[in-house]
Amino acid sequence: MPEKKKISAAPSWLGLSEDRQSFLFIPERAHVVRRIFELAIGGMGSYAIANYLDERKVPTFTQTTKWDHTTIDYMLRNRATYGEYQPKSFASGHKKGIPNGPPVSGYYPAVIDQETFERAQVARQQNLANRGRKGNDLANIFAGLTTCGYCGNEIVLHRVSNVQVLACTQVVDGNGCTRTAWTYRDFEATVFAFLIHPALSQRFRGEQRSTLLELAERVAKCLTAQKPYFATRVEIAILLKQTVTHLALYSAAVIESPRLPSAQISKDVRGRFLEIRLWDGPVDKYLSVL
Ligand SMILES: [Zn+2]
Repeated sequence: MPEKKKISAAPSWLGLSEDRQSFLFIPERAHVVRRIFELAIGGMGSYAIANYLDERKVPTFTQTTKWDHTTIDYMLRNRATYGEYQPKSFASGHKKGIPNGPPVSGYYPAVIDQETFERAQVARQQNLANRGRKGNDLANIFAGLTTCGYCGNEIVLHRVSNVQVLACTQVVDGNGCTRTAWTYRDFEATVFAFLIHPALSQRFRGEQRSTLLELAERVAKCLTAQKPYFATRVEIAILLKQTVTHLALYSAAVIESPRLPSAQISKDVRGRFLEIRLWDGPVDKYLSVL
């Protein structure tokens, strides 16, 4: 068998075998890369992620002591994270090389899957688009988790007379449903009150209990912070995705009569409640405090 060509370099999160013929998967680094992608999907930009890693004293993959936002950015755009290799040509003096031939999948050991990669690309675009907007808006930490209790459609962040609200997509699109909405801040406070209740974690064991305790700790930190605690809110969003399996909003309380699609949207109707389920536990009904 002819001798295999030696590999000259590996992505920073991978190692090389001693004979330089194969890549080595380094679990601790893979864990950090996954975290970086999660944070990006949660809405954090590369500067914020670098600060976040430095604050938590996460070692870099090189000799440097601090994380650099360009390293984070490069990683988030690098398809090698899910194993893809793009052959390049360095002919005619191209420093970075130009793509030469189709990409090869499964070339590197994957540290994330392609779906995670694509989700991070969407989040990065949104993040760039949102830059420069007024800082008073809160990012929806329940994105993708909430449904309408009446019609089952997705609940999205919307604005009613310049207030951030959560509303059913049917309401936003003018198709009817209840013509009600739940003020974002009030909804978040209601879910937070539910999550920090000491009796909640008692119902679970092992890893689920420790996840809930961690979540409650972050929520408490967020509630006592003077300013909106961005990094902590992203962490809460990540933990919520691991925990919540059902979160339905009943923003019109118990409806008595259907409303016309043209009716005005009423906010924070008395008696509004939510239904929440954690993993395969019981479904809790939780009333917002009026
Ligand atoms: Zn609805």
